[in-house]
Amino acid sequence: MLYTVDGLVIRARDYGENDRLITVLTANGKTTAIAKGARSMKSKVKNLTQPFVYGNFEINQKGSALPWIRGGSAHEIFYGLREDVGKLFLSSYICDVANELSGEGVDNSGMLRLTLNTLYAIMNDLRPLPQIKAVFELRAAALSGYAPDLTHCESCGVENAENTYFDVMNGSLICSECLQKRGEIVKKNLSISYDDIRESSVIIPLTPSSLMAVRYALYAPAEKIFSFSLSSGEDMDLFTRAGEGYLLNHLERSFDSLDLYYSIL
Ligand SMILES: [Zn+2]
Repeated sequence: MLYTVDGLVIRARDYGENDRLITVLTANGKTTAIAKGARSMKSKVKNLTQPFVYGNFEINQKGSALPWIRGGSAHEIFYGLREDVGKLFLSSYICDVANELSGEGVDNSGMLRLTLNTLYAIMNDLRPLPQIKAVFELRAAALSGYAPDLTHCESCGVENAENTYFDVMNGSLICSECLQKRGEIVKKNLSISYDDIRESSVIIPLTPSSLMAVRYALYAPAEKIFSFSLSSGEDMDLFTRAGEGYLLNHLERSFDSLDLYYSIL
């Protein structure tokens, strides 16, 4: 069966003598396919099957064998992502997360759109890289079915407390008064320090601006997710901690590409 599909190359590895094995993110899930001869100079799919290429792929599928890329054309190659090593590593991490959160043969249009918009934002410096990264992380978590509820304090219901905390494990907000009460109960029962409780339950403090940013990233329409400004310093730091802390905690894993990104900062 020969079919064509629009998709983004989120992974490309050398395979055999001269081939490449690629994972393509499409609106209907991800597909892994062989690009035969893609590493030879004269291959017509050489450029099409590189990381970050968004294109239309002609895929040949025969029985249970791995499908292979017969041809196609690129819509956008995101060349600018390769010109800066920070952008390159961040984009690799974005694609690794998209790969982790995407299944095969399932509706994936939201994740494809989010990933493409994020690569576009990185390439064109729409916002500072840490901000783009955290928006993607929060949004990717929400798309995968574990959106936190950050509308109000989970204990007393107050919406805009002066001092608020992001309870990462529970995906909820807690105001400082309720956190203190909870802490005292746990402390009494376990006789451990307040710092231990915070550490083990992953509680991230949020300034009013960083809370607004987290809410915006989660609840804004898909086409507007990057359309907000945040001052650098504490507001940005807490926002980025919230994004990464929440996503990685729920995925229960880390990524080599993320380590690489941090290694060059
Ligand atoms: Zn409260």
